[in-house]
Amino acid sequence: MPDVIVIGGGLAGLMAARELGDQNVSVTVLEARNRLGGRTWYRPFEATDNWVEMGGTWVIPQWQPCMAREIARYGLPLKRRPSGHRAYGVIAGKRLEVGELVPLADRKDLEQAVERLIALARTLSPEAPLLEPPLDLDVSVAHLVRDWHVSPATQEALQSMVINMFGADWTMVSALSLLGWLASSQCSPEALEMADEFFFAQGTAALVQALADSSGATIRLNAPVAAIEQDGTYVSVRTAFREVLRARAVIVALPLNLWSQIVFAPKLHPDKMAVSRQRHAGQASKVWALVQGLPPQFTASGLGPGLVWVGEQEEWPQGRLLVGFGGAPLTLDLADRGQIEKSIQFFWPEARLVACDGHDWVKDPYALGTWLAYRPGQMTEYGAHLRQAEGRCVFAGSDIAVKWTGWMEGALLSGMSAAKEVQQLLL
Ligand SMILES: Cc1cc2nc3c(=O)[nH]c(=O)nc-3n(C[C@H](O)[C@H](O)[C@H](O)COP(=O)(O)OP(=O)(O)OC[C@H]3O[C@@H](n4cnc5c(N)ncnc54)[C@H](O)[C@@H]3O)c2cc1C
Repeated sequence: MPDVIVIGGGLAGLMAARELGDQNVSVTVLEARNRLGGRTWYRPFEATDNWVEMGGTWVIPQWQPCMAREIARYGLPLKRRPSGHRAYGVIAGKRLEVGELVPLADRKDLEQAVERLIALARTLSPEAPLLEPPLDLDVSVAHLVRDWHVSPATQEALQSMVINMFGADWTMVSALSLLGWLASSQCSPEALEMADEFFFAQGTAALVQALADSSGATIRLNAPVAAIEQDGTYVSVRTAFREVLRARAVIVALPLNLWSQIVFAPKLHPDKMAVSRQRHAGQASKVWALVQGLPPQFTASGLGPGLVWVGEQEEWPQGRLLVGFGGAPLTLDLADRGQIEKSIQFFWPEARLVACDGHDWVKDPYALGTWLAYRPGQMTEYGAHLRQAEGRCVFAGSDIAVKWTGWMEGALLSGMSAAKEVQQLLL
């Protein structure tokens, strides 16, 4: 019998397992999929030999100390986005000059709105922005900005930025999620620029494998957990195949959207149940597209009919490889080439799609969504119980991280603190 069972082999679960392994605590990881890594997934682009990230990709080592430590520990090389990008904004369907996100006349207005957001982000705790955030800010981003009377162009630019960063319209995302991200980014006006600068040269799979290998844990793939039952001393975990494992404690490192699908005895706290049933708002579409007819180093953002941001990542002999993001309520069918081509042509009408690829995380039964974006009111209603242990079950995951919530850094942070919490239970 292991000391601890970790449920979920994403970055949070693996980080917890590695930290426990370092303390000679025996761990079994139960992972539902046939692979580790969860919402990170490095795999070949559409039957080619070129590998791309379907999920989590970019890291910001200078602001993400846990990630920086793991990168150094395992000697994982990073790559940097090539400099010299030609970024275009599209406002009211019209493409602007290179380097403009809004027309010149609106630039000051956009800058002022960003300054106001940064000033609000400074009111959050820099170390744990979403631990006890000011709940009067738990309104939608649209609601927050409404009273600022920004120009229509600024509004469009902010709206597409929110969809890009959170995978949902600004009416669906709590301002706390946006401010929490800015606070995690040290309230820097460069937060957006930095968000897609560095990525793993050998893919996120290299970090996933390094954590798994050095954890010393027994790792069981294809082991979806269906039920968790505990008495005062032990926890029994039953898989969908009716296998039962026991341990002295459990770390539930599942996406928040999945908690309500597990049968807990005693029952899960009603607030955890409710927020999980509601789900968070993150429903991004991330698409990889090989495209011809584009100018070099092309990047564009705007409220498109499917995508709100596209950016060139590499040049291949067959065309330029773009990555693009969209979000709810618009859902892109990642297999619909016509729809994807139109979404890119919104930014550059001469663009011709050669091939595209992507993974639908919202339909994925082991994710049911993309990265965390709290809905307005969710922190107020459910925040107090999100991270609380229940008996001998401790919770982990980027969705409930107190800093870098929704990011891979948040997953590592949360896995680390869950490992500490569970060690207290084992004493
Ligand atoms: C499209 C996309 C783009 C992203 N881009 C970035 C980015 O650029 N930078 C960044 O930092 N972050 C990014 N993220 C977010 C980042 O990938 C996640 O926040 C992080 O990987 C989540 O880790 P986790 O361990 O908390 O959760 P997960 O990775 O979801 O891990 C949970 C694990 O639990 C497993 N599981 C589910 N149900 C069961 C069950 N019943 N029994 C057993 N196991 C189960 C899942 O299969 C999964 O492996 C992105 C995410 C997506 C989807």
